[in-house]
Amino acid sequence: TKFTDLKLDPKVLKAVVEAGYENPTPIQAGAIPPALEGRDVLGIAQTGTGKTASFTLPMITLLGRGRARARMPRSLVLCPTRELAAQVAENFDTYAKHTKLTKALLIGGVSFAEQDKLIDRGVDVLIATPGRLLDHFERGKLLLTGVQIMVVDEADRMLDMGFIPDIERIFQLTPFTRQTLFFSATMAPEIERITNTFLHSPERIEV
Ligand code: AMP
Repeated sequence: TKFTDLKLDPKVLKAVVEAGYENPTPIQAGAIPPALEGRDVLGIAQTGTGKTASFTLPMITLLGRGRARARMPRSLVLCPTRELAAQVAENFDTYAKHTKLTKALLIGGVSFAEQDKLIDRGVDVLIATPGRLLDHFERGKLLLTGVQIMVVDEADRMLDMGFIPDIERIFQLTPFTRQTLFFSATMAPEIERITNTFLHSPERIEV
């Protein structure tokens, strides 16, 4: 598979070429086509396999030219740690640089005021740790009923850190019709249970 076979937005393709990527990695070749068809994806992949691009590139393509509305993000990326969330945000900026899509990074250790301002203005993509996202929600600053695409990254680490109840709560706050792209390095029984509950006939890709 070549990147040009993947039906990505030309603006995304341009950013990928500029990043110096020559060919999609196996997780990218497996996950991007079903994601672009609107299907749920269950990706079983470790860090270093290119999994971040495997959800970010189709997400940017699918969000296309739609416009963000105040307090209603169109897409959500959940990460277990601040560091990982910050890395995903950096990758998003790289791949979305030729688009007008906007993002906010919601992580602890940063004042709410600045994050509130971005959410109020309206962002296409929220990249967040689960606790911080729910803090914003509880404060009444955020609606998740406009979420079209939800990504869960490194679910196995979410489990280790005790975030599974938060993840379930967040799933329940988003529309049933959302598209879910779910990634985990391993499939523990608790992870299997979550995917059986919240994913709709996912395409399963194991690398
Ligand atoms: P990740 O597994 O998402 O943390 O990505 C690991 C590293 O691989 C990152 O530094 C990416 O920039 C890089 N990368 C992702 N996809 C590709 C690709 N198709 N070709 C070359 N490098 C890539």
